[in-house]
Amino acid sequence: MQTLGNLINNEAVAGRSERHATVYNPATGEPRLYVSLSSADETREAIAAAQAAFDGWSKTPPLVRARVMFRFKDLLERRRDDVARLITSEHGKVFSDAQGEVTRGLEVVEFACGIPHLLKGEFSSNVGRDIDSNSLMQPLGVCAGITPFNFPAMVPLWMLPVAIACGNTFVLKPSEKDPSATMLIGELLAEAGLPAGVLNIVNGDKEAVDVLLTDERVQSVSFVGSTPIAEYIYATASAHGKRCQALGGAKNHMVVMPDADPQQVVSSLMGAAYGSAGERCMAISVAVCVGDEVADKLVEMLKGEISLMRTGPGLGVEPEPHMGPLVTREHQQKVSGYIDLGVEEGATLVCDGRGIKVEGHENGFYVGPTLFDRVTPSMRIYREEIFGPVLAVVRVASFDEALQLINDHEFGNGTSIFTRDGDTARQFEENVKVGMVGVNVPIPVPMAFHCFGGWKRSVFGPLNMHGPDGVRFFTRMKTVTRRWPTGIRAGAEFAMPTMK
Ligand code: NAD
Repeated sequence: MQTLGNLINNEAVAGRSERHATVYNPATGEPRLYVSLSSADETREAIAAAQAAFDGWSKTPPLVRARVMFRFKDLLERRRDDVARLITSEHGKVFSDAQGEVTRGLEVVEFACGIPHLLKGEFSSNVGRDIDSNSLMQPLGVCAGITPFNFPAMVPLWMLPVAIACGNTFVLKPSEKDPSATMLIGELLAEAGLPAGVLNIVNGDKEAVDVLLTDERVQSVSFVGSTPIAEYIYATASAHGKRCQALGGAKNHMVVMPDADPQQVVSSLMGAAYGSAGERCMAISVAVCVGDEVADKLVEMLKGEISLMRTGPGLGVEPEPHMGPLVTREHQQKVSGYIDLGVEEGATLVCDGRGIKVEGHENGFYVGPTLFDRVTPSMRIYREEIFGPVLAVVRVASFDEALQLINDHEFGNGTSIFTRDGDTARQFEENVKVGMVGVNVPIPVPMAFHCFGGWKRSVFGPLNMHGPDGVRFFTRMKTVTRRWPTGIRAGAEFAMPTMK
């Protein structure tokens, strides 16, 4: 079986650590390839390559850097289906969903194509008599990224285009569960004309990550993954003087008000809860029904829709299944374990996805769509992130109770409300303690020119991904105050300078 190595200086380099992980095809349960787990020394070599490339790349005019992004955008558009096929083969999500993932990543490349405009900085004339002031947005140096399994193309593309277009060089550590799509993206950037060393990809695990967090040549760390690891990454990177943005886990609630259109709610919930088998940080995993009548009707309608859902391999089956497998056997067991737990905790199991058999794919890592009713806030299946196709219905008596429930939850990534009432929607937008809010939109993922990020324990660090925050994260501001020689005719001044 092939062993995937690293991408250093635009060249594929075999791993030397003699440690590797197995990457599976989750649809069949068969091993696909090995991925090398890089040693600390191999990671340091990647940092050295990025460090060596920084001077030349940071001095390359932004317009020229943007042209590389334009060529990359073109290549990524043309190779979109190749990237998507790799995603489906290793992550398991169905092909059309994988194509959508690449498109959302492409939108960040389009945003980065406008980098000359985004780096213009600020200018004030005559801040004091004959004195001008302007800000320069300069790149940081070597930036590091560590990415999760659930979006092997989109999440690296949240970071790479903006960081690189800003003039930084980069070392990326993809998820060891599905690294191939990320590697192809690296190859396409090289083909687009990115100079050697500007992007280096090291495959690996904690050993590689710990070097990125502590090596003094690395200036910033961008992380997306689970909350315990995000917290560790933020604490360690910060303790080593690095700028850090670390996005963590989620438990996203959708509030269903009595005036919402039931069919619209059900259609939205089905996609938001079960799309990508629930392995999305913006998946809806809790439906909060205001009133028993709303809940009874919703559960009945969901039950009907779930019975029509097809679960199967993400490639090669017509018509395409609605939902693919989970990423690994361990994750399949973890999600099934949460369904056992929900039953033990006393929730009502309406649809049970455990033990589902997909014909011809009996060893695949499948869990079918699962629905719990009468889930309460004290249950672990409510409090913890399951990250699978498991939707919990929580019943509350009022809008205020729904809002309080969401605000009391540890996570605050995304949320949505379904209502026809503008005042209720406005109260929700204003008062909910969550970073990304949808009104009659189930998965409110911001576009590339806005910022992506949650609140509370869904994020560590002040600046979010892409949009204006992305540019601010990957640059440091320098403010110049300038007076030309004729301005010093009046001689030295010894009092604190103030504007005259
Ligand atoms: P994970 O935290 O297990 O792994 C993420 C990355 O961290 C991987 O590259 C992994 O190799 C590395 N890693 C894992 N353990 C480590 C350790 N002990 N020390 C150093 N590095 C380590 O997450 P995952 O299972 O790959 O992804 C799913 C999680 O990501 C979910 O919790 C999901 O909510 C979250 N996620 C969040 C967002 C967001 O925007 N907030 C987006 C996507 C995914």
